[in-house]
Amino acid sequence: MRFSSCYIPTLKESPADAEVASHRLLLRAGMIRRLTAGVYVYLPLGLRMLDKISKIVREEMNAAGFQELLMPVVQPADLWKESGRWEQYGKELLRFKDRNDRECCLGPTHEEVITDMVRGEVRSYRQLPVRLYQIQTKFRDEIRPRFGLMRGREFIMKDAYSFDMDVAGAERSYKSMYDAYMRIFQRLGVRFRAVEADNGSIGGSFSHEFMVLADTGEDTIVFCRNCDYAANVERARICWTGEKARSCPPCRGVATPGAHTVNEVVGMLGVPPAKIVKTLVFLADGRPVAALVRGDRELNEAKLKNLLKAQDIKLADAAAVERLTRAPLGFAGPQGLDLPVYADLELQGDTDYVTGGNAADTHAMHVDLSRDAHVTAFADLRNIAADDRCPCCGGDVTLRRGIEVGHVFMLGLKYSEAMHAAFLDEKGRERLMIMGCYGIGVSRVAAAAVEQNHDADGIVFPPSMAPFEAVLICLDPNNAQVAATAEKIYALLRRLGVDVLYDDREERPGVKFKDADLLGMPMQLVVGAKSLARRVVECKDRRCGEKSELDLDHLESAFGQWASRVRAGWDTGT
Ligand SMILES: [Zn+2]
Repeated sequence: MRFSSCYIPTLKESPADAEVASHRLLLRAGMIRRLTAGVYVYLPLGLRMLDKISKIVREEMNAAGFQELLMPVVQPADLWKESGRWEQYGKELLRFKDRNDRECCLGPTHEEVITDMVRGEVRSYRQLPVRLYQIQTKFRDEIRPRFGLMRGREFIMKDAYSFDMDVAGAERSYKSMYDAYMRIFQRLGVRFRAVEADNGSIGGSFSHEFMVLADTGEDTIVFCRNCDYAANVERARICWTGEKARSCPPCRGVATPGAHTVNEVVGMLGVPPAKIVKTLVFLADGRPVAALVRGDRELNEAKLKNLLKAQDIKLADAAAVERLTRAPLGFAGPQGLDLPVYADLELQGDTDYVTGGNAADTHAMHVDLSRDAHVTAFADLRNIAADDRCPCCGGDVTLRRGIEVGHVFMLGLKYSEAMHAAFLDEKGRERLMIMGCYGIGVSRVAAAAVEQNHDADGIVFPPSMAPFEAVLICLDPNNAQVAATAEKIYALLRRLGVDVLYDDREERPGVKFKDADLLGMPMQLVVGAKSLARRVVECKDRRCGEKSELDLDHLESAFGQWASRVRAGWDTGT
């Protein structure tokens, strides 16, 4: 395609409201434009990028035996009431009424619609499994849409669903999607990890998340340096090996005026954060409980919620804490509390801690939890940390930030039970279908790839998803000989099947080089009077910046070799 006839509205300046690289660069490269909060227009280059990602996704879905369909954006409330999610789903579900006063919503996901469709058609085990997917626009009314395509309200997603007659079949469906996802993200050229994940609001028996590694990611993942173990930190089990218990002097109160936080107590008493116990008061389905973790650890609400088998869990507010512990926020301790007290496993093995003193401006020193407090139970209650051991092999672990781009769920009977999606088995007995659901954020994967691959000059696209694989820059379009050579090279590249953007604009070379770097095509080729005189074409690998010269008189083979080198540089070792 000729640059002169393309609509590529690049921006010289960084947009002020763009906080992360992908948002900033996709706007600057003229690929997206904001319509309203969390809602974007995909301009021609942006759409080419999405189409390339979708093509790879489609090929792998089809290869895994899933068939494509397309479901509507507007969904009737009745189905959501049947599944129970009309009440459960919060304000992220955009609800409205049509002219006949019927309640509707914009689909944030399609379990209800597809379950309704399949239960209406499938009667016999002979019709199973059913494996379907779509690539479609979703809407979730995020409270704080931000980071451009990373957390938008409207986004493009591939969602797939499987219906099987038994657990073995459902596990085969799950495995085939897991494997397809591995191939998709490898082909997309991003560095990623598949991790054990928490099931979140969709529910079900187990799931994996696919995370693109990037420092701007909102999730933290942990992986073992010794074995294959990888998990979301929220999900990671902690293997606590125990420490030696020591003797503990008698407990006593100490004045700590104004020291509410762990850091303030550390500063005042000179003890390390690991010797402080935080006492957090929660309301679990309205019932107060206290949870204890070390001062340098993060309590994991999902683990506490699972332990208590609670539907809902939230931190108690200051007034409730004061009423329950008789101390202002920051001074609660486990001693003498009239509440169930749950302590993290790690606290079990050591003693001589500092805790809140259950009185204003007071802490307690030399606390032995088994002597001085009544602990209802010790349990795994916190997020894994860099100094923990791998729960599988005991090896060292590494924590990294990640962007979730895919998620595979074993749903089990969650929807088939609620919506009665049943079939008759070979003995004529009625049974419920076993479901799985599998998502890839198509527009988010584009943003994640840019987060992972960019530099000061612009985007560095993996070849698989670059709007164009190559850019051909003609430096002197008014020099007839240079222009004719550029035209020939353009024709040759197209004949070789290279997706090329031909910069034939009457612009200064500096403008063209800057745009080429900003747009991030993996291969740059340059034709100008000087290189033409030497019968070479200058080229640059955008990723590593390495420049080469290709023999103009043997361009086809020279280009072929160079292009394979550029593409090979992108083969990911995750
Ligand atoms: Zn391990």
